[in-house]
Amino acid sequence: MTKSCYIQIPFCNKICSYCDFCKMFYNEELIDKYLDELKEEITLSYNNEVLDTIYIGGGTPSCLNIKQLNKLFDITNKFKLTDNYEFTIECNFDSTTHEKLDLFKKNGINRISFGLESINKNNLKILDRTIDKDKVIDIINYCHKIGLHNINVDLMYAIKEETLEILKKDITFIKSLNITHISTYSLILEKNTKLYIEGYEYIDEDLDRDMYDLICKELKDFDHYEISNFAKNKKYRSKHNLTYWKNLEYYGFGLGSSGYEGNVRYEKTRSINKYLNHDYIKDNGIEFLNIKDKIYYEIILNLRTKEGINLIEFKEKYHNPLEYYYDYKKLLNNKHLMKNNNHLFIPKDLYYISNSIIIELLEGEKNEY
Ligand code: SF4
Repeated sequence: MTKSCYIQIPFCNKICSYCDFCKMFYNEELIDKYLDELKEEITLSYNNEVLDTIYIGGGTPSCLNIKQLNKLFDITNKFKLTDNYEFTIECNFDSTTHEKLDLFKKNGINRISFGLESINKNNLKILDRTIDKDKVIDIINYCHKIGLHNINVDLMYAIKEETLEILKKDITFIKSLNITHISTYSLILEKNTKLYIEGYEYIDEDLDRDMYDLICKELKDFDHYEISNFAKNKKYRSKHNLTYWKNLEYYGFGLGSSGYEGNVRYEKTRSINKYLNHDYIKDNGIEFLNIKDKIYYEIILNLRTKEGINLIEFKEKYHNPLEYYYDYKKLLNNKHLMKNNNHLFIPKDLYYISNSIIIELLEGEKNEY
């Protein structure tokens, strides 16, 4: 049953050089039309389930003005929620104000995820972003003042000319903020981004590895519960993102969003004209899943987390133990995978090579099922 929901708000005041997300420039008239369409899309698809999590992402949802945010919350207030729900909104510090934070609180938001990325001038110049440190501190303080204590900050690293010292300063600044969660991203050069088109290059792979190690070391007091995610403690793990990593179902609403319901994974169109014409699904955007596909997703998503694959739940879900489908003895023998309390997981010191471990596991697929 679907218990989570992602809503895409694809508007930004400024476009970052590395960004491959579904987004466009802020346009008041277009946003009004978009919110009307979003309401229609949700009304058509939402089946009144009681949701555990809602995540409003972007784009930059905080770039909406108060009137538009009210319109957005008129839509989200229709969702039924569990007592223990998590309701996150993504924000940029630049476009967040006290008034908007009050409005978030009033409308049930209880987690905020801020894009910060870096405080280093050169990094920010490359990323085409700005940060006002005083504003960051003011906004975080105000969040706490009104009871919004669950706060994530994004950190980006592996930016050309960045050194370990620069990264350490970024981490130190982020740690000095009174926040509960840090998501880290190694810069990826996606096609169609300004950086890619300008021929920007990746940093040296050894340095990238050293940076990841530095982050793990500096955040060792945090709960490193997913390859790139750190929570102050278990209570502050992102419930919504765990929906993805546990391979659970979720709605995806809005331009360029994706969802997973029943036996289908889907992607919504990135064309605003198509979307506003009630044509929500991307061309070839539907993937019908058989049991093999579901197990594939279960493995690659679960193994991103500290707890890995829960082997008992796996058997209940797929009627046979994991070893019926995949031979992973070799990976246990060479300690690339560990087993403990019916969980199969990648040891923390091998997170950096997790992709190759997962590929190796998938190569052990048995053919008889
Ligand atoms: S990274 Fe975020 S803020 Fe920057 S352009 Fe992309 S969606 Fe907008």
